[in-house]
Amino acid sequence: MDKPEIHFDEPKFNYEELELQLQSYEKNPQGFQHDGPSIISIKQGIRAGRAGSVAVGGCLLHHDNVIAENISKANMPYHRLDLHAEMVLLNELEDRLCDNKKPGMRNYTLFTSQEPCPMCLARICFSQVGKTYYVYRDAQSPEAGELTNFERMPEGFQILGSRLVVEEADCSPVLKEIARQVWLNSIDGCVNEWFERY
Ligand SMILES: [Zn+2]
Repeated sequence: MDKPEIHFDEPKFNYEELELQLQSYEKNPQGFQHDGPSIISIKQGIRAGRAGSVAVGGCLLHHDNVIAENISKANMPYHRLDLHAEMVLLNELEDRLCDNKKPGMRNYTLFTSQEPCPMCLARICFSQVGKTYYVYRDAQSPEAGELTNFERMPEGFQILGSRLVVEEADCSPVLKEIARQVWLNSIDGCVNEWFERY
């Protein structure tokens, strides 16, 4: 069978250029309440891409405090294809919470630089993390449809997730485009690595 193909846009900037764009962006928490954690997530995304994984990063907040920042580790240092940034952050949190039966997950907020995939959304529903915000959703990408990934989850997950907020971050469109460009720098190579494993 032929190797399947998914086509993505060519990135217009490399990581160095995108890092400079991020540095020169003045964050505007009055106008966009999620600029701060969005910038952290994109910086972590660049770190993930440079390490050889899909360039997605994120952070975790308890109330308004950032308690963890991390990256996708799906492709590097070796293939652990469950370790998307969201999974890495929730693993870290659940290890910290350990046997706390009522950790008040509603008070935690997960930020990620890219819209979570269905695997991560299932985990988000199981974990009951109160809010998830993603910097960028590419409505033009091959995996995106009219509905968000969260809206397309099977019914059982929709019930599990019915009290959760899963939405695009309220951040500047400048940051959304930087997040998209960061991701585009990594996605072709990583998808090819997955197909090569077949
Ligand atoms: Zn994922």
